Amino acid sequence: MPESQLRVVNAVCPLDCPDTCAMEVVVDGDRPVELRGNRSHPFTRGALCGKMAGYLDHVQRPDRILHPLKRVGPKGEGKFEPISWDEALATITDRFKAIAASPHGPEAILPYSYYGTMGKLQASSLDRRFFHRLGASILDRTICASAGVAGYEYTMGRGRLGADPEAIDGAKLIINWGSNTAVTNAHLWSRMVDARRNGATLVAIDPFRSQTADRCDWHIAIRPGTDAALVLGMMHVIWREGLQDQNYLEQGTIGAEALRERVLQDYHPEIVANITDVPVATIEKLARAYATTHPSFIRVNYGLQRHFGGGMAVRAIACLPAIVGAWRHPGGGALLTTSGAYDWAADKLARPDLSPPGTRIVNMNQLGDALVGELPGPPVKAMYVYNCNPAAVAPSQGKVIAGLMREDLFTVVHEQVGTDTVDYADIVLPATTQLEHIDIHGSYGHHHVMLNTPAIPPRGEARSNNDVFRALAARIGFESELFPDDETLIREALDGGPSLSGITLERLREESGSVRLDVPSPYLPFAEGKFPTPSGKCELYCERMALAGLDPLPSYTAPLEDPQTCPELAERYPIQLLSPPRPQFLNSTFAGTDRNRKRAGDPAIELSDRDASERGLHEGDWVEVFNDRGRFVARVVLSGAVRPGVAVAPSIYWNKHSPGRSNVNSTTSSGLTDMGGGALFFDNLVQVRKTTETVGD
Ligand code: SF4
Repeated sequence: MPESQLRVVNAVCPLDCPDTCAMEVVVDGDRPVELRGNRSHPFTRGALCGKMAGYLDHVQRPDRILHPLKRVGPKGEGKFEPISWDEALATITDRFKAIAASPHGPEAILPYSYYGTMGKLQASSLDRRFFHRLGASILDRTICASAGVAGYEYTMGRGRLGADPEAIDGAKLIINWGSNTAVTNAHLWSRMVDARRNGATLVAIDPFRSQTADRCDWHIAIRPGTDAALVLGMMHVIWREGLQDQNYLEQGTIGAEALRERVLQDYHPEIVANITDVPVATIEKLARAYATTHPSFIRVNYGLQRHFGGGMAVRAIACLPAIVGAWRHPGGGALLTTSGAYDWAADKLARPDLSPPGTRIVNMNQLGDALVGELPGPPVKAMYVYNCNPAAVAPSQGKVIAGLMREDLFTVVHEQVGTDTVDYADIVLPATTQLEHIDIHGSYGHHHVMLNTPAIPPRGEARSNNDVFRALAARIGFESELFPDDETLIREALDGGPSLSGITLERLREESGSVRLDVPSPYLPFAEGKFPTPSGKCELYCERMALAGLDPLPSYTAPLEDPQTCPELAERYPIQLLSPPRPQFLNSTFAGTDRNRKRAGDPAIELSDRDASERGLHEGDWVEVFNDRGRFVARVVLSGAVRPGVAVAPSIYWNKHSPGRSNVNSTTSSGLTDMGGGALFFDNLVQVRKTTETVGD
């Protein structure tokens, strides 16, 4: 094909990943022939990760859902027959109207979504308006980052501002705290490697030797869920040895003296060593290195938030840069997310004002409880799932599946492919991919606004989320002005605060689909203090936490399930199970794709040699992993990467591709974190024993 007949379209990776890569789609007529990184993007610089390498095949795969379907077999079997869009929309609106008019009311309808796409339009615009206008239950979307965000915002104020990832090259000490950056934030990792060439030391604090820990200069293998204790031990050493930045503490923080007294009294390194299993000498060495090396950059991520004390752990880490004055320096500070730097007009898009006051809120981590009737309020009689695969990703999987099997539950799933959740749907709607719809993206790993331009028409009869909500709204009789076209929505999203100043749809089109936020470069939001908290300071002591019934000072909040807090439970279930992302999958996205599944291999559990030999297990053995909540089957891996008493099950496999048809979430609980309503995926004690089950059973 002559080069001149090909078009190049600017696009954005839609996945729930902080990198938000700029992509180019090369199109021949209506056929995409190449997907590549956009080299002109200042942060992602033309590289896409392996997860997206097969995306064109995904778009064109023969088993894409291309037409509306209705169930013709038992729930869970995944048997459907095609129907028209007209029949599908009529069925949905008739059921929704009947439920809304019933004594249960519209709160008996539950939307369920997360970030299968991160686009502002397709993830959080007309969907929210539709369900708010309907009066449906409100979903609290807390499955990933809400605990850490709550802890961070108590400390740092609204906006979740942090260190500039584009300035990390100049850092001299970089700590990956609960962050497998090389796998889950690859473009930041490449900048960390650049920093190391400039003399930086790379540290990983992680209970297991992740790919990142393996490549760092120093790995501290902390006991799971005890990160806050390590932070407080570091603070003890810093204050004891006079290594704090007294001037920054006085100018930029509130509560330094109270925190100093607490850590000097309660968090001696010997006490912290008992909690964390990190030796005293290591705590002292880390504290001294952190306090005396500038600039120092902490990448704090999601692993440590998956425990009961996840919010307090992130809060404690967020205090560290203020204590040593790290915010003063380009390349210094801490980065949880950059998402708060985007002044989107989020409420204009989502219109929460349309929701009747007092509408029930359902925490998404408690889906199983909601579906089996264990939450207050009306029973859930209908569920509309999009951008999500709760049958595989939601905790307390046994309850989730029992709920999805209910004959009186009307379930709609809008999807691209036949996920585990699709198998339980009454109506399946065909969804567009990122190549087939328009969207606008922020990022939680850099500071650029990006436009995704559709490269090809939708395959088959696929429709975008917004197109479906427009159609449902029209059929149900909602005001048409609430459901405008996508370009109008983009303009509304950009009509926000100062960081979006000068960024328009036209400018995004002119500048290859990406414009940096109107923030300085490098971005040093706290070099002079000035935090967006009620006090205007970094709140080491936080009155809002006291009012919320929380400890106003950083403290160690133990996991709900671990051998120290639950010694009796640990006698039966002695292994702390972590389930971080399998590098080939993104949550459960691509776990149904042959290419990625082959590369990922069988479901696995990494054990220490000691735990394996105590159970007579060898590399490659199939084992049953179980607790009182459920069980799944996996192959033993003995890589030497995990400490005794800890196991790692890289995730998230689809149930239908797992032996026994259940995955790690059959063992996780629907308990919630100390703040923010986050999930307790890693507060999970299990036992492991040999089984004869294998894939295909
Ligand atoms: S998953 Fe992340 S690193 Fe991979 S292409 Fe998408 S945004 Fe880039």
